[in-house]
Amino acid sequence: DVVLRLQGVKKTYRSGEEAALPILQGADFALRAGELVALVAPSGTGKSTLLHLAGLLDTPDEGEIDVCGQNTRGLADAGRTALRRDRIGFVYQFHHLLAEFTAQENVMLPQMIAGVRKADARAKAEQLLGLFGLGHRVKHLPGKLSGGEQQRVAIARALANNPALLLADEPTGNLDVRTADVVFEELMSAVRGQGLAALIATHNEELLTRMDRVITLRDGLVVER
Ligand code: ADP
Ligand code: ADP
Repeated sequence: DVVLRLQGVKKTYRSGEEAALPILQGADFALRAGELVALVAPSGTGKSTLLHLAGLLDTPDEGEIDVCGQNTRGLADAGRTALRRDRIGFVYQFHHLLAEFTAQENVMLPQMIAGVRKADARAKAEQLLGLFGLGHRVKHLPGKLSGGEQQRVAIARALANNPALLLADEPTGNLDVRTADVVFEELMSAVRGQGLAALIATHNEELLTRMDRVITLRDGLVVER
């Protein structure tokens, strides 16, 4: 039940005149169902790159990336998009909610795109928002919500299609410390409750003891910290 596997993944950015910048140099990593893993590494070492590759938003130069047992090498864009939509949820540092849609509609959207019936999508959105204590905020536009509430909606949206894998890039990095701790706790219990695999880039040292493992990036490789 390996949900995500990276084998020998290499990634180098080449841009214009500048020298090539090797970021990943043969990274190996496996994440099993139910595992909650933190990715902690200094800025610029490739955390976002690793998450983008794992999330099928970018392709490696070399190596293999398997999601839910499916190898993604040579998968056409449509196949990658389908795998991402059906299996992977993303949470970013900034919520990226659609400003003109309510909290509930934001959580319904990925479901509608995946072909879920509107009534079912609405019910699922209400259930998820309720789980995050936002039952009384479902009709609010993102702009009317606090930063912590906005981020909770973004987390609910990431969980809307029952992903097997949750990828999060500093999911509480934009919140004040107290709110960040509360939202992070809620994120962790949602992940535990649903038996998801999660890979979360974070700087929050205090919460690391609650993770199953902590990994870091060293010389372009994934190592246990
Ligand atoms: P982190 O998330 O650990 O801060 P990133 O994966 O965002 O690291 O970036 C690693 C390095 O790669 C940085 O030096 C960054 O500037 C560079 N980089 C990231 N994305 C690109 C890109 N699309 N093109 C060129 N360089 C990039
Ligand atoms: P930043 O850390 O630079 O603010 P984010 O963490 O929000 O950026 O997003 C990281 C990258 O992922 C960006 O390059 C953004 O364009 C891309 N991205 C964000 N959301 C999506 C998405 N839903 N689908 C595809 N790419 C996305």
